[in-house]
Amino acid sequence: MKIAVLPGDGIGTEIVAEAIRVLDALDLSFEMESALVGGAAYEAHGHPLPESTLKLAKEADAVLFGAVGDWKYDKLDRPLRPEQAILGLRKNLGLFANFRPAICYEQLVGASSLKPELISGLDILIIRELTGDIYFGQPRGRRTAVDGHFPGAEEAFDTMRYSRPEVERIARVAFEAARKRNKRVTSVDKANVLETFQFWKDVVTEVHKDYPDIELDHMYVDNAAMQLVKAPKKFDVIVTGNMFGDILSDEAAMLTGSIGMLPSASLNSSNQGLYEPSHGSAPDIAGKGVANPLATILSAAMMLRFSLNQAEAADRIESAVKHVLASGLRTGDIWSEGTKRVGTREMGDAVVAAITKKTITG
Ligand code: NAD
Repeated sequence: MKIAVLPGDGIGTEIVAEAIRVLDALDLSFEMESALVGGAAYEAHGHPLPESTLKLAKEADAVLFGAVGDWKYDKLDRPLRPEQAILGLRKNLGLFANFRPAICYEQLVGASSLKPELISGLDILIIRELTGDIYFGQPRGRRTAVDGHFPGAEEAFDTMRYSRPEVERIARVAFEAARKRNKRVTSVDKANVLETFQFWKDVVTEVHKDYPDIELDHMYVDNAAMQLVKAPKKFDVIVTGNMFGDILSDEAAMLTGSIGMLPSASLNSSNQGLYEPSHGSAPDIAGKGVANPLATILSAAMMLRFSLNQAEAADRIESAVKHVLASGLRTGDIWSEGTKRVGTREMGDAVVAAITKKTITG
């Protein structure tokens, strides 16, 4: 089993270091190899996704990714910006299925801006299609772009497009995932206004015929955005396109109140995957040793489950995280009165200790 480790920029290096210590504590035999990506790769090689990094990612069974980006790169031409590395990895590895679970840990119910009864016990999964839709259509306006802007332009447009195979495969991923959960899928679209999403709805409905054990309903995206804050626990699996998924998965993530807790997985058709926290490189706290490493540690657990066939090891990590939260340790982003504030390293230490069954720090 080979893992490509791409820590990236900002807090990326700090949080990935803790995830690696947790993986090491499991005593499984992995080969891990690191490479530069994002701003760090741009500084060293003049490109955010150098050939050598892409080659390593392609050859590995899984990629453990930190985060990329820093405000200091905002003036670079778009193809050289750190964030392009993640788009390049998605495209080159064919990572079409993005899994974003939103789970509310009992000890963190107070961190949400919603009432505790609305989110206590929340466990939903958003599956976002990642390589199609308007983000990969034809951006005609960009022909005239100067430094990423359109001086004097009268119009700009992007095209929304999905093909049947693209919708079929993401629908299957959602139905299969629901089979391992509560057997309900909500397909989110805008079929009342957009042809692309009437087509999406039709194809999802056809694929559903192969999954009679799964309950399927359809919801317009504006209603879904409302229902997510009104009654989020009514959902089980949500499947949607790239743009709606981008927005709804961030909304769902924030239901739990703690961006530092949320893992994600992006998979291709051979279950090769890229695993990363849902948050970015947090330049405001980089280098201070205060970032929450749990989203990355939980992403490593998803990696074990989905790409490396090590479900038991994944369970051990997830139980260790619950144990550490129950012991009252918190990084700054999830700290509340009565709990003990710790840094990135101490949080990593505590998870390692829980895995190896030693005493928890603090
Ligand atoms: P961000 O997610 O990096 O940070 C938002 C806020 O959340 C900040 O206040 C930050 O301190 C806090 N935060 C994030 N992760 C945290 C953690 N683990 N522990 C504690 N606090 C945490 O988003 P942003 O500030 O909008 O973006 C910063 C940079 O990250 C930008 O360059 C952006 O493009 C990039 N970004 C990268 C990815 C990625 O690599 N996939 C995703 C989103 C943003």
